[in-house]
Amino acid sequence: MHSNFIKQLLNLKGVKVTKISHGNSFVKIYIKTDPHEHTCPKCGSKTSRVHDYREQLIKDLPFQFKHTYLVLKKRRYACSCGKRFYESYDFLPRYHRITNRLAYFICQELAKLTSMTSVANTANVSISTVMRVFNCINYGTPSLPKVLCIDEFKGNAETGKYQCILVDGEKNKVLDIIPDRSQNQLVSYFKKIPRKERHSVKFFVCDMWQPYVDLARIFFPNAKIVIDKYHFIRQVTWAIENVRKRLQKTMPTNLRKYYKRSRKLILTRYHKLKDENKDAVDLMLLYNDDLRVAHKLKEWFYEICQSDKYSYQRTELVKWIENAENSGIPEFEKCAATYRRWLKEIKNAFKYGYTNGPTEGFNNKIKVLKRVSFGIKNFQRFRNRIIHCMN
Ligand SMILES: [Zn+2]
Repeated sequence: MHSNFIKQLLNLKGVKVTKISHGNSFVKIYIKTDPHEHTCPKCGSKTSRVHDYREQLIKDLPFQFKHTYLVLKKRRYACSCGKRFYESYDFLPRYHRITNRLAYFICQELAKLTSMTSVANTANVSISTVMRVFNCINYGTPSLPKVLCIDEFKGNAETGKYQCILVDGEKNKVLDIIPDRSQNQLVSYFKKIPRKERHSVKFFVCDMWQPYVDLARIFFPNAKIVIDKYHFIRQVTWAIENVRKRLQKTMPTNLRKYYKRSRKLILTRYHKLKDENKDAVDLMLLYNDDLRVAHKLKEWFYEICQSDKYSYQRTELVKWIENAENSGIPEFEKCAATYRRWLKEIKNAFKYGYTNGPTEGFNNKIKVLKRVSFGIKNFQRFRNRIIHCMN
């Protein structure tokens, strides 16, 4: 009768439901299997002689929002050789007290940005069970993609304050986490990867940090080095901010406060401002030549970045650097020097369009993960959890 439906609902192969009992917060489903001939694990002969029974309580997926237990009537067989052994079940890993599908459910819950405690509560298991299930998840060393992005984030792991994240820039997937960003760690990591595989990396996306570039030249000789757009645009933003701050120091209090409040207006693209804000910017720029030139350079640089014509970007960038170098504004002279040093790599960013955008997105998610899990000190677990959650 209806036990057939319950059987379908349970979807456990070869299992019969004998009884169901409901409590306020739990459901107990009593199950057993049909007896059949077994092979003795010791001598290999067949037997169907039942020795005795034992009840085992197994946790299963929550059902109707209640904690659900399977009460399995386990059969122990006896062989003529004297060996006694329990039946084995497809749905139950040996020596485990949870069903395979509950373990799978825990894995899925662990892919959300939540704490181990909350996964344990949802699945009605202890935190140590969640840990045990999670310890079975281990991501191996990935193969390198065509576009390799590298960035760092503050993970505060046992291995160091900063960790490196490797991302596939085309498929937007987290490839790996490196224990810390030191040259030693990076070298030992990439040294282990076969030469042939390293040589097939075509693009290496990073920020303006010399060790990354040195690393790329050695390990990825066929890769074009691309500086992440966000990282080099930031230099211009900082330059104009520093000009404003320098000028503010010489201003009377009320004017200084006004400039500080209006800092966003200076940073916004001029043509995107509302008319009244354009007026405000015009007035601010009237105050000082340095700020006016800085603003002009900033607008020009943004325009170069936002263009979709590489031929234009390539020639304008060189002109921009020359102008900034001769601007007489120390903040922009410094910025221009940086750009000149990284000219080829910045041009690559314009030419090929790869950025660390996806990597930055992952870094934000890692921040959330760190917050909900109160930091994960154990590096291997931290690494596996990040890869598990991000992909
Ligand atoms: Zn036997």
